[in-house]
Amino acid sequence: MAKLKITKQSEDFSKWYVDTVLNTDMADYAPVKGCMVIKPYGYAVWENIQQALDKMFKDTGHVNAYFPLFIPESFLHKEAEHVEGFAPECAVVTHGGGKLLEEPLVVRPTSETIIWSMYAKWIDSHRDLPILINQWANVVRWEMRTRLFLRTTEFLWQEGHTAHATAQEAEFETRQMLDVYANFAEEFAAVPVLRGRKTDKEKFAGAIYTLCVEALMKDKRALQWGTSHNLGQNFAKAFNVTFQTEAGTREHVWATSWGVSTRMIGGLIMVHGDDNGLKLPPKLAPFQVVIVPIYYNDEERQAVLHVVDRLLAELRPDVRVKVDDRDNYKPGWKFNEWEMKGVPLRLELGPKDIAANHAVIARRDAGPKEKLTVSLDGMKATILDLLDQIHRGMFAAALKFREDNSHRVETYEQFKDVLDNQLGFVYAHWCGETVCEQAIQDETKATIRCIPFDQPPEDGACVHCGKPSHGRVPFARAY
Ligand SMILES: [Zn+2]
Repeated sequence: MAKLKITKQSEDFSKWYVDTVLNTDMADYAPVKGCMVIKPYGYAVWENIQQALDKMFKDTGHVNAYFPLFIPESFLHKEAEHVEGFAPECAVVTHGGGKLLEEPLVVRPTSETIIWSMYAKWIDSHRDLPILINQWANVVRWEMRTRLFLRTTEFLWQEGHTAHATAQEAEFETRQMLDVYANFAEEFAAVPVLRGRKTDKEKFAGAIYTLCVEALMKDKRALQWGTSHNLGQNFAKAFNVTFQTEAGTREHVWATSWGVSTRMIGGLIMVHGDDNGLKLPPKLAPFQVVIVPIYYNDEERQAVLHVVDRLLAELRPDVRVKVDDRDNYKPGWKFNEWEMKGVPLRLELGPKDIAANHAVIARRDAGPKEKLTVSLDGMKATILDLLDQIHRGMFAAALKFREDNSHRVETYEQFKDVLDNQLGFVYAHWCGETVCEQAIQDETKATIRCIPFDQPPEDGACVHCGKPSHGRVPFARAY
């Protein structure tokens, strides 16, 4: 139901975002502060995300399992950096069944500890390795300031937790899963991403290093799209997980973990959306085509719906198609609603169209007045081709936007000027020191998004302290 007008992006981007999410029935605020309800239309996007990623995980040898929501509080304390990173945002259960618990239970903020407590039972020999498990679950991280999809106290995600016999295997896995996330972002969400490594300051609490993919939103702020962590032997040591090698010695197991969440939905809304609302990438859209039949009497209705049925039989199941045959809304009203909801293609079909053996198609990625007339013969091939064009067009537009909003700066004055007046990715030299990185963040609210894998070697001076640097890193203000 369209209820409110959507604020223009140029007027107030945050307001545009909230208006869009609420008006398109993606999500709603929950009665519990910091929590959200994912409504059916938003959940359908999540299901499409899950389906695509799950296949990619399985194609790379992973299997799904499920671990408990509650983690004994003492588990969190076994890995020093991990507890320091997560304890402040944990929800803790102290009572159960009306009684004080002997040991408080943490509601999982992430599952490394509970999973590694189980791996300790399951791993004894090199023959037990590798373990390549993924979990689809919810997690809780107490948040003070929340935003629908982007930052909520409870959110949905997947977390992969793998165990390996060698450091090399763990290293390979960490990179492989990052590439899975990057490919998913580009090939399904039409979101171009930077791939790289987090600085030590930004890495996951308990990791040796963290790899990440980063995207640029339309308000020119960055969003971390996904992360993949090489945990080294940190969790194996904390939970005493060793295995007998082929040579007969005992060694600690090597680990990785990796995750993406419902936050990606917020990301794809902010990468593609416009003043008319959502613009959903065809591969993740709940409906790729909405058919709006047009008729003015029963006879026309029958004739039009007869052709609609024929089209449905042709299009399904390869195309996700919905027929909007609600009689209590006028066609024009329906056009506006599906445009706002970001459906890639709208197909209009009336008696005159049928007589001429064609249909009228509107593309969400074109202007609302631009319409195509296409033959009813071979409709499936036409639609699949249009969906592919839309995906490629959306990706190209997002990539161009990112490139247009990537800046190279030499001095700290320029650096601050770009952040204050333009935002985007700011490529600057950095000395590699955490103190300097922190000072830049305190002064400008910009963080280093990653050290790109494809960073070209280039000698220069740190934009903040002037010490030598060997390459540029992208800074940005981020979500
Ligand atoms: Zn420096």
